[in-house]
Amino acid sequence: MLCALFSVFHTLKAQKAEVEQILQQVNLDSLLFSVARLTGIEKVTINGQEQTIYSRYRNQLPNDWAATYLADRLQAYGYTPQNQYFDAMGKNVYAIKEGNLYPDRAFVICAHYDAIAVPYDQAVGADDNASGCSGVLEAARLLKDSNFPFTLIFVFFDEEEQGLLGSMAFNQQFDFDTYGIEAVFNLDMIGYDYNEDFKAEIHTRPYANSIELANKIIGLNDTFQIGLDLSIENPGTSASDHDAFWQTGKTAVLLIEDEQDFNRFYHTKHDSMQYFNDSFLYRNVCFAIASLCWFASDKDNTLSIDPGNTANPVIYPNPSNGRVWMDSREGGLLRVFAMDGKLLTQFPVHAGPNELDLSAWKSMGQVVLQLQAESGSFRSNVLFLMP
Ligand SMILES: [Zn+2]
Repeated sequence: MLCALFSVFHTLKAQKAEVEQILQQVNLDSLLFSVARLTGIEKVTINGQEQTIYSRYRNQLPNDWAATYLADRLQAYGYTPQNQYFDAMGKNVYAIKEGNLYPDRAFVICAHYDAIAVPYDQAVGADDNASGCSGVLEAARLLKDSNFPFTLIFVFFDEEEQGLLGSMAFNQQFDFDTYGIEAVFNLDMIGYDYNEDFKAEIHTRPYANSIELANKIIGLNDTFQIGLDLSIENPGTSASDHDAFWQTGKTAVLLIEDEQDFNRFYHTKHDSMQYFNDSFLYRNVCFAIASLCWFASDKDNTLSIDPGNTANPVIYPNPSNGRVWMDSREGGLLRVFAMDGKLLTQFPVHAGPNELDLSAWKSMGQVVLQLQAESGSFRSNVLFLMP
């Protein structure tokens, strides 16, 4: 017993030291280098030609240069970037770094690279969302030589501003059989902090283990003395790419600046890096990378979302008209949530088959069933559809 305890502490200590070492390498100049190039302050070289990314709106030529620029950066770090095409002009860019123990279980860090403003040819989008892209690039740069048990996926989405089109396409097209998603960290608008209070928000909702994820990462701000003032928003906003993962039943959170101190240049041509609070950007990126590494490096104590976890209750039929059986290995408390995170009802269930009648909420189309096991040994979420 003592031995096991010691081993747990030892692992935690090693894990903390490992993440600390990575965080020490987060570099503000590296972040601003990326933002300056994605927003046309500095030129980029695309297929041997110097270009200025003057807009990242979907139908603008530099939107595609931005995708090429991001892919080139991933390539330069030693990854094999992939393009994922959708609709007429959409293109996501991503790279995969396989884990050495659980290659089929992946953590995603993502940001959208497209932007919106009127006029369309001046959508520079520094805060929204070159800031998030700089964080994903920095994670890719720092983790290229790391050896994590879990797979990491770095993703840049296109056409978020058109209604999450890129992330929805990703959720339709990506090979989740090869790389199941453990959790998603979405960065969107993390550079603006006018009142310098370092407030930022973690947005979550009761999809899969998104709430557990938010609760687990918020403490990393103190663990690693990052210096943000963080709060958890539940139900969080659905207005960014993490929602495409929520809608397909995956664990995801959004990191975003304080809503009460919102970027006053949002979706205008003035959304420029001159209005950044550089230290705020730096701290957000540190927090995102700490969160990613904390889970991706922890082979023993990750989120309880193993898709093959036999402790998960079986719900059938699903979809159905509201009358459903739930077969659970263990009894516990079943909570039923609306998709906006509102608790609809809760009641105890026993081990074995339970007959449930959820037809009272049929008009909602879908609800989330969350089972908290009696023993506390697991918590499981299932999306239940009532078409
Ligand atoms: Zn955005």
